[in-house]
Amino acid sequence: MKHSAASVLVLIFAFAIVLPSGVVNAGCEMLEYHRVQATPHVYLFEAAEGTTGIVNGNIVAVIGKEAILLVDAGQFPSASRKVLGELRSLSQAPVRYIVNTHWHGDHLLADSVFKDAFPKAEIIAHSHTISEANRHYKDYVENSLKQFPLLMADMRKRMDASSSVDERLWMKETLDCAELAIPEIKITRYLPADRPMDSKLEINLGDLPVVIEHLGTGNTPGDLVVFVEADKLVATGDMIVFPSPYAIGSDLEPWPATLERLMHLGAEVYVPGHGPVLRDTAYIRDVEDLLKTTRTQLSVLYDQGVAKMEAAQQLDTSSFRAKYINTPMRRQAFDQFFVKAAVSAMDSTKKPSKVP
Ligand SMILES: [Zn+2]
Repeated sequence: MKHSAASVLVLIFAFAIVLPSGVVNAGCEMLEYHRVQATPHVYLFEAAEGTTGIVNGNIVAVIGKEAILLVDAGQFPSASRKVLGELRSLSQAPVRYIVNTHWHGDHLLADSVFKDAFPKAEIIAHSHTISEANRHYKDYVENSLKQFPLLMADMRKRMDASSSVDERLWMKETLDCAELAIPEIKITRYLPADRPMDSKLEINLGDLPVVIEHLGTGNTPGDLVVFVEADKLVATGDMIVFPSPYAIGSDLEPWPATLERLMHLGAEVYVPGHGPVLRDTAYIRDVEDLLKTTRTQLSVLYDQGVAKMEAAQQLDTSSFRAKYINTPMRRQAFDQFFVKAAVSAMDSTKKPSKVP
């Protein structure tokens, strides 16, 4: 059975299906959101930092006088219902738009929570997002409940065999979080998006114009961003993830130019797909540098015929690591979701092209 790395990232939590009872998960915060007012019209519901194999995406609410636009909806219905309750305390306006920034389930599997509450809400996504989401999640619950025990058994084996203390910790915490996720899978109902949007769409939430735009390939080919000019704020989806970027299934070549376009929108506040509100471009520039140096090095290693495992060892990302990757869990997340993901693109169909 072959899984794309991205679907494994989302599916991995069902390892818990066959966990023995009594597994400690008191430290797992994946069902929690922390509310932050980013700007006058925008609230971030910040998901817990995604350092285990189980992650949840941020939800961003743009609140106008007549309507609310959500950027992503999260993955876990119980957590997203709490966000819905908080939204109702913040505004009487209805949710009219739900933008899916890309196809990964940690951003859209809980769309139905908000659509059920506001049936007139339109789910908007790039056509790439729509086709990939339909392909991966059409039979999400049934498939997940079948596949997870196999994935879990594999992780348990790898955990037992691993000689790395950090890796064992990462797997243990992933398995601990998994137990919380099982009831969430069972109550998940995937909804396809209502409206494809492949370039630029301007809408008004009542004295509050908002632009939804595809700036190019970022984390996925279908990434959308949402720009609120009045607040000089842009919600980026996973083209920016703080503090450890995700590159699962990503093409690193076009991504830096997309980040340049992002930084030229005129925003001063950046809300990432995971992580806190960023109020300058320092981190985005560091991610851009990381993407470029990774691609350049992998291109050389590919030409030298270096095997993937060896390439992952040789890849030098030390300047980024020194600034951001400063805990054992972050080291694991960075290795799993960035380094190994980037190296896995070193095959005949996705050879990194030379950087001039
Ligand atoms: Zn994500």
